[in-house]
Amino acid sequence: MTKGNINVSVENIFPLIKKFLYSDHEIFLRELISNATDATLKLKHITSIGEAKVDYGNPKIEVKIDKDGKKLHIIDQGIGMTAEEVEKYINEVAFSGAEEFLDKYKEAGKDTGIIGHFGLGFYSAFMVAEKVEIITKSYKEEPAAHWTCDGSPEFSLEESDKTDRGTEIILHIAEDSTEFLEEGRIRELLMKYNKFMPIPIKFGTKEINDPDFTPKTTKDKDGKETTEPHKKITVDNIINNPNPAWTKQPADLTDEDYKSFYRELYPMQFEEPLFHIHLNVDYPFNLTGILYFPKMTNDLNLQKDKIQLYQNQVFVTDNVEGIVPEFLTMLRGVIDSPDIPLNVSRSYLQADGNVKKISSYITRKVADKLKSLFNNNREDFEKKWNDIKIVIEYGMLSEEKFFEKADAFALYPSVDGKYYTYDELYNKIKANQTDKDDKLVILYASNKDEQHSYIEAAKAKGYEVLLLDSPIVSHLMQKLESSKENISFARVDADHIDNLIKKEDTSISKLSEDEKTKLDELLKDIVPTEKFTVQLEAMDSDAAPFLITQPEFMRRMKEMQQTGGGMFGMGNMPEMYNLVVNTNSNLVSEILNTKTKKKQERLINQSLDLARLSQGLLKGEELTNFIKRSYDMIK
Ligand code: ADP
Repeated sequence: MTKGNINVSVENIFPLIKKFLYSDHEIFLRELISNATDATLKLKHITSIGEAKVDYGNPKIEVKIDKDGKKLHIIDQGIGMTAEEVEKYINEVAFSGAEEFLDKYKEAGKDTGIIGHFGLGFYSAFMVAEKVEIITKSYKEEPAAHWTCDGSPEFSLEESDKTDRGTEIILHIAEDSTEFLEEGRIRELLMKYNKFMPIPIKFGTKEINDPDFTPKTTKDKDGKETTEPHKKITVDNIINNPNPAWTKQPADLTDEDYKSFYRELYPMQFEEPLFHIHLNVDYPFNLTGILYFPKMTNDLNLQKDKIQLYQNQVFVTDNVEGIVPEFLTMLRGVIDSPDIPLNVSRSYLQADGNVKKISSYITRKVADKLKSLFNNNREDFEKKWNDIKIVIEYGMLSEEKFFEKADAFALYPSVDGKYYTYDELYNKIKANQTDKDDKLVILYASNKDEQHSYIEAAKAKGYEVLLLDSPIVSHLMQKLESSKENISFARVDADHIDNLIKKEDTSISKLSEDEKTKLDELLKDIVPTEKFTVQLEAMDSDAAPFLITQPEFMRRMKEMQQTGGGMFGMGNMPEMYNLVVNTNSNLVSEILNTKTKKKQERLINQSLDLARLSQGLLKGEELTNFIKRSYDMIK
């Protein structure tokens, strides 16, 4: 038997490890199962190249709880270690890492939230165990070794009579960590971290119907049939799927395979994903994965199921911020890459060259996929547009590369349910919607019902009206206006339609200058000018006499501020509206020619209220007064 001191300069490093990692004790299991997996895969490798003359067989990893003995066992059938290797790999390698780790942790610990992303390795066992044993038998013809360490730098190493190949790690669970002796807790951890690890993991047994047994059905003398009970057999309870979809080739997977993998990833999701993107590169970095587009709601904050990050099929985190471009963090699925450095802070991660490449690769793949979906089945793409537009619009705003690519598939739906790409729209409206200053005006509505009369007025001129209703679309319009030549967006109710797209001025005013001044004074006297800016316009005589509009600029800035950005302070500005009064309408002439001030006032108030009503602005007491006044008028 050997006794010795583990070479660490800190007298007792284990209490430190425990203290520092308080919140993330649970990852010890992931680390130990990762070691067991590595040991098994190493054996697979050396048997496949003929270096080890042993039978690889069908190895598995077993996790076993001994509640009475307060022990947790992790057993593998991998490569094993000789006594010499234990000295080397456990005493020297594993523990020399501990100091380094603590240094790193102190540095990175300022940036909280990264604990648990460290590869802690074997010594993380001491976060939950007061004593750890390793009983291991190498594939080489050498006696097995038994190593014991009670958490002080002292260890003992002796021979063991273990005959079967592999390693058993025994954790004597500490008093403050007895949760890890609970079956439910261990199962939860296995499902979280090990669900897709490449070697089968056994946790207990289960009863299933014997597949080799067919229950007999017998008839009694009355002809009544009885079937004997199915024969049960006990089998290993394997908790993982060692061959998850993302590790396979896209050509070997059907649509249904992708969908069933989605259900495996998110068992609580009942809605099917809209489509998937299979990621697969090995140069200049290694990355595999599958991303799914779920149905998006307009609520950007609502996001429960996230993209999961794996390294070689070991779950690491579901916080992929910095690795996946932000607009794609709304997607679901998995990314598996051994090339993402995890033992670094977030800010470092974002500056890392590899990670940047990964992020732009993902962006490109997503853009390519969207483009091919659009090209291959446009009708289907249009149907899905409403559910995916928020991601695409967000991407166009936040990633310049994506913005350029999205031109080919970003859609602009019309109020009549037609879908245009930007170029299609441009060609369609260029002739009719270019104003006298050569600017192309793109008209849109945000709500078909609320802006109905304005939409109708625009359509009457043969204009195309888009329906743009996502919460960030005002930012996108701003971006399009600055990146495309000479265009502007205007909501149909931003002004009178003739003002929105100004053609050559051919209007003739029925009113003389004197009459206009008189009308202006009269209106300003009666209309509440703190809410409405009065604007006289000589429009068609059959156009609405009174019209309320809300200037595009002001409204858009307010909207942009609500979703982040826009102009500082705009959010607190009171709502301002324009009251456009058509000086060519008969009603306006009538108001001017009416003799009594009282009757003039009544006509103006009534007209103003009608204009407010059509904008949905007449509410409460004012609405009650309007209805009362209207009844009086028809009496
Ligand atoms: P890492 O896994 O990062 O190398 P660890 O501290 O987890 O560091 O382990 C140190 C070394 O101990 C491993 O590299 C491996 O050689 C050996 N080892 C650990 N667990 C096992 C095991 N279950 N079977 C065989 N060797 C193991």
